[in-house]
Amino acid sequence: MTAPRSTPKPDPAITIHCTTCGSEDVRRDASVAWNAELQTWEIVTVFDNADCEECGGEASLTEREIVA
Ligand SMILES: [Zn+2]
Repeated sequence: MTAPRSTPKPDPAITIHCTTCGSEDVRRDASVAWNAELQTWEIVTVFDNADCEECGGEASLTEREIVA
């Protein structure tokens, strides 16, 4: 039995923002595969393409640390 793969969590925690408008309403393209055991889609690959819902198109993203 193999342990479920998990994406390592950034430490400290971050938010992802559009570099153009600063919105957090951003998306990445990803490839997913069906996991029959967990009955859910699992992310296999996250692609570099990014879109901002505010700008309505391709965007570049920046990370910001969450300051408690
Ligand atoms: Zn934007």
